[in-house]
Amino acid sequence: MSKYKIISFYKYVTIVDPETLAKEHLSWCIENELKGKVYLAEEGINGSVFGDDKKIEKYKNHLYQYPMFADIWFKETSTDEIAFTKMHVRVKSEIVNSGLVNTSLAHTAPKLTPEQLLKFYEDEKDFIIVDARNWYESKIGKFKNAITPQITHFREWPKVVESLNQYKDKTIITYCTGGIRCEKASAYMREQGFNNVYQIDGGILNYIQKFPDTYWEGGMFVFDDRRVLEPNTKEELKYTANCHFCGKPTAYHINCHNLDCDKIIICCHECKTINEYCCSDKCRASLNKRKSFYG
Ligand SMILES: [Zn+2]
Ligand SMILES: [Zn+2]
Repeated sequence: MSKYKIISFYKYVTIVDPETLAKEHLSWCIENELKGKVYLAEEGINGSVFGDDKKIEKYKNHLYQYPMFADIWFKETSTDEIAFTKMHVRVKSEIVNSGLVNTSLAHTAPKLTPEQLLKFYEDEKDFIIVDARNWYESKIGKFKNAITPQITHFREWPKVVESLNQYKDKTIITYCTGGIRCEKASAYMREQGFNNVYQIDGGILNYIQKFPDTYWEGGMFVFDDRRVLEPNTKEELKYTANCHFCGKPTAYHINCHNLDCDKIIICCHECKTINEYCCSDKCRASLNKRKSFYG
């Protein structure tokens, strides 16, 4: 039994006054000793919340009380690590920064369940699978045969779609961590004339919990202090990346602790310690280094 749970959730739903809700929500979370990040916008909610079983249950019931969140889907993972140390509730213009302001969620693609995706692979169906995440996420882990765009921000998605123009009549499957990016990514593709687009229900998170050691290769990048989930136990499916320093297969990564650099580096645990969480000797010598992890 793990000590803690992390729940990830989102929902596109009209929130009339996100500012007021954010204030209420933050004080409720602090009172109930929950940690994590919650984003609110007029278009909905997106969050990851961390705590022990009891606190997480309480949080879920709290959200369920709002009619607009009564059917929200919480994806859960268990951990012994501290995933978040603070609670943030922020109001934003979008619950995920996409820049896809003219894309209508009414056009979002139908969803494939993990079972259906598994069957696509097992039946060797003719399909193109596209990672809607950033290069450093897909470097650490990806679906088998996936196209992994070398983008650094989701706002670059239109460029990716343009590069896929030759596949307009193919079956396309998009995926991301928990599904939220694909809601708009897939809608955008359909608006650009792609005829047969699907997204994965609940994203990678949902798939790897049901079918580890199958068609997901490597680790899964997460945006919290765990940094990566490693769902696979089969040696040949554990890693898709290598340590920047020693070349050993790893799914771990760091942000260089020189705050003026902050570059993402794929780096094994040993080399992370040896290099003091820095990408180079120059960064290690910097006077503007992050303080966390040392204390
Ligand atoms: Zn290494
Ligand atoms: Zn650096």
